[in-house]
Amino acid sequence: MNRIKHLPMRFILALLLIIVLMLFQHNSMAEAANSAVKKTDLVLVEDYSKDFVIEMKYASCDNFVGKTLYPSPTCVLTKGTLDKLIKANNIVKKQGYTIKIWDAYRPLSVQKIMWEATPNKNYVANPYRSGSKHNRGAAVDVTLVDKNGKELNMPTEFDNFTEKASPNYKGMTAEQRKNLDILSKAMKASGFRALSHEWWHFEDTDYNNYKIQDVPLSKFDKTEYGLSSKVISELKFIKESNTSQLIVVTSKISNSSNVVINTYEKNKNGWVNIHKNITGWIGLKGFTTNKKEGDSKTPVGAFNIGTCFGKDTNFDTGLDYYRYDSKDVWVDDPNSKLYNTHQREPSNGRWKSAVNFSKNTDGIYDLFFTIGYNQQNIKNKGSAIFFRIIKPNMVIKYTNGAVAAERKDVTSIAKWLDKNKSPKILMGPLSEIINY
Ligand SMILES: [Zn+2]
Repeated sequence: MNRIKHLPMRFILALLLIIVLMLFQHNSMAEAANSAVKKTDLVLVEDYSKDFVIEMKYASCDNFVGKTLYPSPTCVLTKGTLDKLIKANNIVKKQGYTIKIWDAYRPLSVQKIMWEATPNKNYVANPYRSGSKHNRGAAVDVTLVDKNGKELNMPTEFDNFTEKASPNYKGMTAEQRKNLDILSKAMKASGFRALSHEWWHFEDTDYNNYKIQDVPLSKFDKTEYGLSSKVISELKFIKESNTSQLIVVTSKISNSSNVVINTYEKNKNGWVNIHKNITGWIGLKGFTTNKKEGDSKTPVGAFNIGTCFGKDTNFDTGLDYYRYDSKDVWVDDPNSKLYNTHQREPSNGRWKSAVNFSKNTDGIYDLFFTIGYNQQNIKNKGSAIFFRIIKPNMVIKYTNGAVAAERKDVTSIAKWLDKNKSPKILMGPLSEIINY
């Protein structure tokens, strides 16, 4: 009887002991996590919360500069500011909304580029004085989206440099005022303050604890731009061809001019990555599946690689090599029967406009190879899509539609290419290229 009576007591004591041990372990784990990351550390937002909608405007051409300023849509904040933003997001989530982030930490070097490009200095902080709170990873540009991901009706679009962008603007509609109030209240309750010129901009009231930084965003980008051997071997166009050399030009979003280039070669064990994560540039407005002449975009797709052109007498490449002279051109006149072909001057009325390789003094055509886009020469579908050298000394780099890389990288890839291996190039955003 006694034994039976005491069993539950022993059981309760054991249970209590287990609970105490678990609590102890939980506390020490939390302490370890806290001590590893300080409030002042810059961190990748998606490592701590997947609950935001992230659309980094400066990683695309969809911003007031009209050019891509960030290498990739990498959203970074100081840990302290991020904690506050998560708090604000939890407040708006209870009302059925989600915070969409347009900008967060911005390296000081990007601030300098922005400063040069801004027509109205009221809207961009001077990087040579106190800089922007964005440079400290302590400011965010945000709006709200509903349950379908649709942006709420706010006073203006992002980076509107007029009086309408002021949170105090008297002319906003009742709906805009109500929506902005939901955002502002949540942000202020979480430790942010607003600015008088920009309704979307909020800065951490503790910004003074954080210093101005110039750590490049690429340091935080964990995107895997390289494709596995398995993914490449399962691509439809690879299965249907005898290609054993492949160049992949890709980015995370379609409207960015910044891309990452990888090359691969097939051996008996599969596809091997030869040139890894080379920095490259494409059209000012990014990729398109509907290329038009003069749209500053780069066509998406899988294409053959053609002839290598150069100004030097000889160049060591496995491609056919053509040394051009002052008469060699590429026709870009959509009304010409010779549109998107290599020809020699004089035109004698055969075309009205053409790219003359030797007349370009920037050296971008010193060495290039052709990409087999629009080989049917369809009127207005785009011309002169080459893999060439990026124009030197561009502050923000891009092309009119070609793929470009640094001279050393173009040289190295052109030397590696071998026409006997039927080389191809696959170009497009990461989400789209796997469909080819
Ligand atoms: Zn801002």
